[in-house]
Amino acid sequence: MTHFGLANVGGVVCNGDMFKSSPTPASGAAAPVVAGAEGAAAPSLPPAEVYAATVGPAISELVKVRAQITALQAREATLLQQCDEAASRLARDEGHLDHGEFAHRSVAAEIGFALRESDRSMVHQIARASTLVEHYPAVHAALAAGEISQGHVSVIRDAGGILGIGDAEVDRKRAIYEQQVLEIAKTETAGRLRAIAKGLAEALACRPLQDRHAEALRGRGVVLVEQPDGMVDLVATVSAIYGKGIMDRLDQIGWAVKNANRNAAAADPGGEVDERSLNEIRADAFVEMLLSADPSGIASAHGKGLAAIKARVQVIIPEEKLRDRSAAGSARRDSASGSIGDKASDHIATELVGYGPIDTDTSRTVAGLSPAWERIMVSTLTGQVLSTDTYRPSAAIKRFLAARDLRCRAPGCNVMVNRSDIDHTLDAALGGTTSTDNLATTCRYHHTMKHHPGWKIRQHPGGVMEWETPLGRKYTDRPGSTVRFRRVVHAESADPF
Ligand SMILES: [Zn+2]
Repeated sequence: MTHFGLANVGGVVCNGDMFKSSPTPASGAAAPVVAGAEGAAAPSLPPAEVYAATVGPAISELVKVRAQITALQAREATLLQQCDEAASRLARDEGHLDHGEFAHRSVAAEIGFALRESDRSMVHQIARASTLVEHYPAVHAALAAGEISQGHVSVIRDAGGILGIGDAEVDRKRAIYEQQVLEIAKTETAGRLRAIAKGLAEALACRPLQDRHAEALRGRGVVLVEQPDGMVDLVATVSAIYGKGIMDRLDQIGWAVKNANRNAAAADPGGEVDERSLNEIRADAFVEMLLSADPSGIASAHGKGLAAIKARVQVIIPEEKLRDRSAAGSARRDSASGSIGDKASDHIATELVGYGPIDTDTSRTVAGLSPAWERIMVSTLTGQVLSTDTYRPSAAIKRFLAARDLRCRAPGCNVMVNRSDIDHTLDAALGGTTSTDNLATTCRYHHTMKHHPGWKIRQHPGGVMEWETPLGRKYTDRPGSTVRFRRVVHAESADPF
């Protein structure tokens, strides 16, 4: 593995280019003399101390500034909510016949004009601020304390929307959701939190996903939106599982063409060059397949066999769901009344990786026979992966890691496993074993960074990764599976499982 020693780049560190990689000299070649290029002596400080002195104070300051910003954002939400409350009070006291609509519009315009923002946008901002302050007080407090970002707040509020607003029972469930999601928000990025929050809210939703999906499905369709310069947008509204599958297939075709082009260019430097971007190839494949049902037309002269590419979609199926399949007919919840069933599995959603909960009928179909889907069975008590479908037993470890890790294991990284490498935590050359307790999924970007001096990665039992930065700060990344699949136990789901 290539190592980019800071010693090799010498004074470059002080010029703020410390993250630029530097080519390592070929074996036997003389090391480049960067710092000495103008005859000056190299800095005497050891590279690690130069690094710490350069970025350490700035990062500490950034953390403080960010906390001040979120504290102000929390304060802004309080003020917007106060204006909203004042508008409601005015309308009530003055007996407005429109239930306060004009009072609220008037206040929104007042704020909008003062801030030079559209008053329509203000209506939206006020509503979001009021939801935060009134329905998520702990989340609001965490924002004020700098423990989470505005991005986390949006994710929590949006995912919690399915809980609705209403009676004391809804309030109680929202409080449970708030407590559960906030605990995770404090250690995960907003991007990663999205699917987790959706799952937590789903487990508490009064109206079953099954019913909501059936209703939403009636809104499926394809819309054509005309754009300038001879273009159109084609927007298809379909079940998430099909949308993800279509996108994955287009992705795979795109990469296959790209790789074929790269190989062809290497073999024939003077040959014809296909300069299409990945996105352009995706669009060409989309058109070609719909119009001719034969995607081979989108390949360059060198890309063959694209029709054989099948979509890859991972679906996580809680073991309780599978156990219930035989009893599905007799123990279905009373969906007509929207009441919550008694069975534990009614609270646990099947999840489409990269999206969130999906409805039971779709997941039961997927759990059937189709080989296009990769099925991951998990225990929702522990979040542990029990098994994965093994179509190719030789790839058992790969499948286990894909299921356990779900995405790159650098803290905060959301690159999916199919775009990542499987990496030895402790290098095989240093005695690291090729086993699941020493392997983890890492995207190319973080794989490279991990090998830079100063970075240390350790793997603890259960696939827990610890990243130590050159500043000596330690960050823990838990496997996506244990964060996502662990069943959150709350009063109404206490059961013998
Ligand atoms: Zn990564």
